[in-house]
Amino acid sequence: MTGGFGDARTAELAENLSRLRARIDAGLEAAGREPGEATLIAVTKTFPADDVVRLARLGVTDIGENRDQEAAAKAAELAAAGVRVRWHFIGQLQRNKCRSVVRYAHLIHAVDSVRLVEALSRALRREDGGAPERILDVLVQVSIDGDPARGGMPVDGVPALADAVAATPGLRLRGVMAVAPLDWDPHAAFARLAEVAQRVRADHPTATIVSAGMSGDLEAALVHGATHLRIGSALLGKRDTLR
Ligand SMILES: *Cc1c(COP(=O)(O)O)cnc(C)c1O
Repeated sequence: MTGGFGDARTAELAENLSRLRARIDAGLEAAGREPGEATLIAVTKTFPADDVVRLARLGVTDIGENRDQEAAAKAAELAAAGVRVRWHFIGQLQRNKCRSVVRYAHLIHAVDSVRLVEALSRALRREDGGAPERILDVLVQVSIDGDPARGGMPVDGVPALADAVAATPGLRLRGVMAVAPLDWDPHAAFARLAEVAQRVRADHPTATIVSAGMSGDLEAALVHGATHLRIGSALLGKRDTLR
């Protein structure tokens, strides 16, 4: 990890952050909501751990990653540097990665099957050596268009999956997450998510989180009740890869 952070990259991130915060505040106001009602998660995938440190020093302490190998390495680097952040695992989670992910993740956004719920529960028990003492917060990922290719549980299956999470020791159901399908109007997509979120919340009062909105569609997400925005490129810049 580099020593000084009063560098050009820090200045760039600070500028992007102030522009982004203004955009989020304007989006909240346009949605008739109060400033500060949405939590910013900086999606740092493909960017180095140093950028996470820079963001933490700028006051952004919720960090999103979508691959275990990369996230685990960054979490270890940050821990070694004594920098505390909250890690959000926002990607598709393979069952064989659960044991690793439960070691550092604070919130898992993309739970989309009962098999994954069971794998997370098993991983927690193994890590904690017996009865799970730690509570892991999870979101159910909703597939807005029902296309299984991109992950997520189709809308009709969400209530039963939410029940399964809530009934699993060690897991706490905190809400829902979705990515707007590319070929959908984001307003239609997030309106649909809002309906699902409300249904889940009616059964499970702890499920207050709506994780929705990325760099391109955060305003639409805020209109439809997003509580957590997952922002990559608008804050960190363009990624070299497509993910
Ligand atoms: C990469 C990613 C984001 C951030 O996307 P940007 O368009 O760069 O803001 C948000 N959510 C998920 C699930 C992602 O994989």
